[in-house]
This record gives sequence, C-alpha cells and structure tokens, in this order.
Amino acid sequence: MSGSHAGDGPRVVVVGAGIAGLAAAHRLLGRGARVTVLEASDRVGGKLLPGEIAGARVDLGAESLLARRPEAVGLAREVGLADRLQPPATASAALWTRGALRPMPKGHVMGVPGTAAALAGVLSDEGLARIERDADLPRTEVGDDVAIGAYVAERLGREVVDRLVEPLLGGVYAGDAYRISMRAAVPQLFEAARTHTSLTEGVRAVQAKAAAAGQSGPVFMGIAGGVGTLPLAVAESVRARGAEILTGTPVTGLRREPEGGWRVVAGERVLRADAVVVAVPAPAAAALLRAEAPGAAAELAGVEYASMALITLAYRRAETDLPQGSGFLVPPVDGHTIKASTFASHKWGWIAGENPDLVVLRTSVGRHGETEILDRDDAGLVEVSRHDLKAATGLTAAPVATRVTRWQDGLPQYPVGHHARVGRVRAHLAGLAGLAVCGAAYDGVGVPACIASAYAAADQIHGDLRGVQQLTAHPVQSLHGGAGE
Ligand SMILES: Cc1cc2nc3c(=O)[nH]c(=O)nc-3n(C[C@H](O)[C@H](O)[C@H](O)COP(=O)(O)OP(=O)(O)OC[C@H]3O[C@@H](n4cnc5c(N)ncnc54)[C@H](O)[C@@H]3O)c2cc1C
Repeated sequence: MSGSHAGDGPRVVVVGAGIAGLAAAHRLLGRGARVTVLEASDRVGGKLLPGEIAGARVDLGAESLLARRPEAVGLAREVGLADRLQPPATASAALWTRGALRPMPKGHVMGVPGTAAALAGVLSDEGLARIERDADLPRTEVGDDVAIGAYVAERLGREVVDRLVEPLLGGVYAGDAYRISMRAAVPQLFEAARTHTSLTEGVRAVQAKAAAAGQSGPVFMGIAGGVGTLPLAVAESVRARGAEILTGTPVTGLRREPEGGWRVVAGERVLRADAVVVAVPAPAAAALLRAEAPGAAAELAGVEYASMALITLAYRRAETDLPQGSGFLVPPVDGHTIKASTFASHKWGWIAGENPDLVVLRTSVGRHGETEILDRDDAGLVEVSRHDLKAATGLTAAPVATRVTRWQDGLPQYPVGHHARVGRVRAHLAGLAGLAVCGAAYDGVGVPACIASAYAAADQIHGDLRGVQQLTAHPVQSLHGGAGE
C-alpha cells in the first residue's frame, strides 16, 4: 500500500466486526488503507459483550485476556484503555472434584504435570502412582498431530486427563480433550512430546524454558468496565481515523472483479474494494468464499462449533458467604451440570469496587456434543446453576437478579488435524490476491490469538497490494441502493 494516510490508500472492506475484524481495521488504517467494516448484527464486538446485572457492569462474554502474549493488552493500550487494564484480584482458583472444592494445583502445563507431586490433593493415590510410570514407558509417537487426551492418558493415566486437562481445556474450547488437537491447542506440549520420551520430563523442560525467559507480571488481565469494552474502544478509534463501520449489514456475496479488486455484496448494497478481510466464523466464511474459493469453503464448512450458556447471578453481599478465590472448574467426570463458576466480584477488583453491596458470579453450561442442557429455558438454567453452586459452595441465598446469555456456536473446535486443515484453507486462498481470512477459526480462539491472526491478515493484504494499481477511480461505493458513502 502506498498511501500513508486514510485519504488516498487502497480500499479495504473488512467483513465482521468481532475483535478480529476490528483489529484488522486498526492495523490496515495504520498501513494507510481506507477501511469499511461490514457487520451483520446490530452491534460490534461479537463474542465480547459488556452488559449489566442489578445495576452492575459485567462481561456477558469473554472476560479475561491472556497477558503473556502482547496482542490484546497491546491493542487495549493503543486504543486508550491502558489505565483500565487490571490484573485479577486473586489468582487462586479451585477444582470441584471428588466431592470437594480443592485448590487448583500449580506446576502444570494445561493440566499436565511435571511431577506427580504437583497434583497431590486432586488425584487419587492410584492416579498419582500412575503418573510415576511415565518415566518407564517406551516412547509414544505423536506423528503429525495427536489428541491431547489420548496422548496424556497413555503416558500419565486417564485421571490426569479427566480431572485436570479436561476441565482446563474445556474452559477454553468447551470441547472434549479426547478429540482436541495437542498441536493446535497446546503447541508447547506437542513440541515437548516430539522431543522427549517422558512427558513429565518434557513438561519440566517447558517450565524451565518459561522460567529462563523470565516472564513476569500477571498471566491474565481484565479491563475495568469489562473486556467487552475493548471492541467498543477499537471501533471508536478506527472511526476517528476515518473508517466506516456499518452494522446491520450482513455480507452475502464476494466476487472477484474482472479488472481486479473485489465486489462485496451486502443485500442491496454492493461495494467495490481493492482487498477484503473475511473476519467471520467458519460457517459464514465458507458461505462467502464458496464462489471464488470452493476448496477453502469446503474445508471451513467442516469446522465444528460448541454452544454454551453463561448464567450470571447477583446476590446481596450480606447474604452471601462464598469461599475465597476466583471460582472453580468442574471436571465432566464428576457428573455435575455446570462446567465452571467464576466469582466475578472476587476475581475483578473493579466489579467489587463498583458494587460493594453485591456479589456477582457466573456459571457456564454446555460444551461440544453436550447440547441437551441448552434446551432448558432460562429459569431452568438458573435453577441448575443454583443447585450446583449450593452443592459446591453451600450458597443458599436467592439471587437478586439473574441473566442468561446463550452463545450458540460460540467456540470453534480444534480437533486432531486442525492445523493441517487451516494450512489447506490458506493454500486454497494463496492464489487470490487481496483476500485474507482471520478470527477464532484459524490459529487460536483466545482474544490475543484472534488479534494476531487479524494483524497477519492485514499484513498479507498490505503485501498483496504493494505495487498493485489501486482502484482509486472506484472508491468503496454503493452501486445499488443503500447509503454507501
Ligand atoms: C462465552 C465465551 C467466553 C469466552 N471467554 C474468553 C475469555 O475470557 N478470554 C479469551 O481470550 N477468549 C474468550 N473467548 C473466545 C473469544 O472471545 C472469541 O474466540 C473471539 O472473541 C472471537 O472473535 P472473532 O472476531 O474471531 O469472532 P466473533 O466474535 O464471532 O466475530 C465475528 C463477527 O462477524 C459477524 N458476522 C458473521 N457473519 C457475517 C456476515 N455474513 N457479514 C457480516 N458480518 C458477519 C458476527 O456477527 C460477529 O460480530 C470466549 C468465547 C465465548 C463464546
């Protein structure tokens, strides 16, 4: 791209105003493009959603940012939220397993321990003894990819998978550890498995490397007011720099123009652009790419999603006696319905500070392949949450307010072979200059990974367009109906 400011750069349309689409717009503007973002729903943010319960501001979607990667906290700082970044007030979480809330062990990589002792208190004696056998087992080949559950169970026994790996992975993917790709979901473990015969030895090597890298500071960050305010701030920032964001504008078609560039169809509205970034979930991306990249579309159509619901509950503080800590995870093997509970008022100082008389917490239900629970109505989900909370914590008070947020197809699944699938998608798209994809379906579901994929997409577009004649004679415009610009 040759333009150094928004006035004369190439025209880029971004499809989708989740955090990936907005981050792509942010990066493209920095590279001199003129940007239009088209969003199907009536709001920006996608899975990031700030909300309110009993007058308290809360997150109704994602609530925490991994701070050991630079992208999310970096973007927050760039759009003026530096002062509102806030680490969790407590890092101590629990596991509700074998009939009690037990402190979450430390010294593991996604639940996989470097020593049996690291899991003392959570596993049975047999489970701990089984870990010790790892050192004597012959090598387990991992090939090009392997399900993390199968691999860890073979080396360390099923108990580690069922009580640690499953709930921890479930907290990120709402998926099944026996299907999830070790290579895509926990690449550092995959590397350790490739280079070490003993898994515990491999984990200790990963831990030593992390210690040597001297990573310090909080692992996670929140944002006062909610992580859901991040996309709002990014949207404000990109608008202030000249980008247009059109909500309520689902894109329905994407075609190459014979003379170069792209035609983007959004109902009655037809836009022309030098380049397009597709930042929507896999099924929507598949529909848009079918005409020009049927191979990529077929791959994306195969990406499965998990649905879930978050149940947010507000209590009078005076009536509520919760255990300490930020909340707990629940291994599915323990047979309860909720998958996790976050004590939001304990975890985030800003929530406690803004609402001294309230205690806000939330539970989650549903995961890949387990959708019956989501057939219950909102009252039913509140009831099951209260039942499990009482069993886990003794909480019997009646909430003063409840709120159910359903995330249909909220999280893409990364089964064995996901990495290769994404490679094939990119190979199919490689010949289409000026088209890039990004978002949770590709290189990681967490917010920082989505932002990283957006930056990579923007950089790819930048490379594609460098030296290419810009369509300055054809600014993004409405050819049929709609306001356009
Ligand atoms: C309940 C829940 C909790 C989570 N918690 C965390 C957390 O604490 N920390 C973390 O890091 N991650 C968390 N995640 C994951 C993370 O929030 C998401 O992976 C990430 O926000 C996805 O961003 P995205 O931009 O790729 O996609 P989305 O947020 O899905 O955005 C895509 C956008 O595209 C729009 N769109 C779709 N089709 C079209 C179309 N045809 N035309 C125009 N627009 C279209 C959609 O309306 C949407 O706004 C959570 C996810 C869920 C569901």
